[in-house]
Amino acid sequence: MLRVVLALLVVIATAALVATITTGEIVVTLIGGGLAVLIATFPSGEQKPRDRFVPPANGGTDARTVIEALSEPVMLIEDNRVRIANAAAREMLGAHVIGEDVRLAIRHPAAAERLVPNASDGSTDLPGLGGRDQRVTMHVATLGNGRRLVHLVDQTGSHAAERARTDFVANSSHELRTPLAAIIGFIETLGDDAAASDPGVRQRFLEVMMKEARRMQRLIDDLISLSRIEAEKHSLPETPVDLVMLAREVAGEVGQPVQLDLPVSAVVQGDRALLSQLIHNLVGNAFKYGRQPVSLKVANDSRMLRLAVLDSGDGIAPEHPPRLTERFYRVDPGRSRAQGGTGLGLAIVKHIVERHRGRLDIASEPGRGTTVTVVLPTAVSPVVTEESPN
Ligand code: ADP
Repeated sequence: MLRVVLALLVVIATAALVATITTGEIVVTLIGGGLAVLIATFPSGEQKPRDRFVPPANGGTDARTVIEALSEPVMLIEDNRVRIANAAAREMLGAHVIGEDVRLAIRHPAAAERLVPNASDGSTDLPGLGGRDQRVTMHVATLGNGRRLVHLVDQTGSHAAERARTDFVANSSHELRTPLAAIIGFIETLGDDAAASDPGVRQRFLEVMMKEARRMQRLIDDLISLSRIEAEKHSLPETPVDLVMLAREVAGEVGQPVQLDLPVSAVVQGDRALLSQLIHNLVGNAFKYGRQPVSLKVANDSRMLRLAVLDSGDGIAPEHPPRLTERFYRVDPGRSRAQGGTGLGLAIVKHIVERHRGRLDIASEPGRGTTVTVVLPTAVSPVVTEESPN
């Protein structure tokens, strides 16, 4: 309802402004900056034009100034010819469009249909306009006297986000379906008398079923972790956490020797459980994909704290590190699955680092091992650590 009212106001106000251009009457101050705000709030599907309009010093304005001030492509059409095209429209369609028939200016079959004279107002998707992967929506509003306002909204970003979301759902379902199919298959076979009566076969089947069930459990745990961390990504954790104590604790839990190189203390403002998960994931990967020795180093100065996990494994070819924090991206999916990997460990690490306003760096040299470094801002001193009796 609000959108309809706003749209009507924009149409009326813009028509008034256009009339001032044609008649030359100096009524612009009547509408002034208020119109700019109205046009800037023009409802435009998912995205709204960014309001970066600065009214002229005299407090007045005209339609050309207002349209030019908009950051998204907007054109004023008169008798089907482009009368005004702002900088964003000229950039998308070319400066030559001014004066052209609008159907030539926006060369797209779906646009041509909507832009024939007397066609109804509304929105039309123009896939491929401005680039093969571009997703643009065109909004057309009639202003009267043969004039129309054409507003192009680039939806490429939101389409890419939507695509990432659907890919994630598809990948998660696939990852869950594989162990589930194995479990169902073994249950069916166990229903068969011959298999069930052999205690050795039964035992083996039960072990495989347990392994697959645990794999599903790890995946579900990681999916829950990821969504929890994402849901809270804007809230900076505030508990002081001593990473030196945490590093010692994790090293003691992994069940394999970790070489420690730690200062006396290194305190960050953070979430202890998340930081523990981060160190576990990095040290776990160093053992899964690297070779011993695996070391864990913490170094700090007054502003930044650096936590690094180093291994001496085969390393990673240079094309992979930029993609390793993508969900389900693995260099060698077979090896990852054989090691019990979910493909989500580094995506979780990335989100934990972002939540702590930190930085993640993966450096690797094939044949020489991998170093994953996390840089975090140190806690504002003085602090009392969570282990302190106070
Ligand atoms: P996974 O559950 O597969 O271990 P991660 O997100 O933790 O998922 O890691 C993604 C991929 O990055 C792994 O499958 C592996 O190919 C690669 N990787 C991560 N850490 C290392 C490492 N220390 N050395 C070599 N490759 C690594």
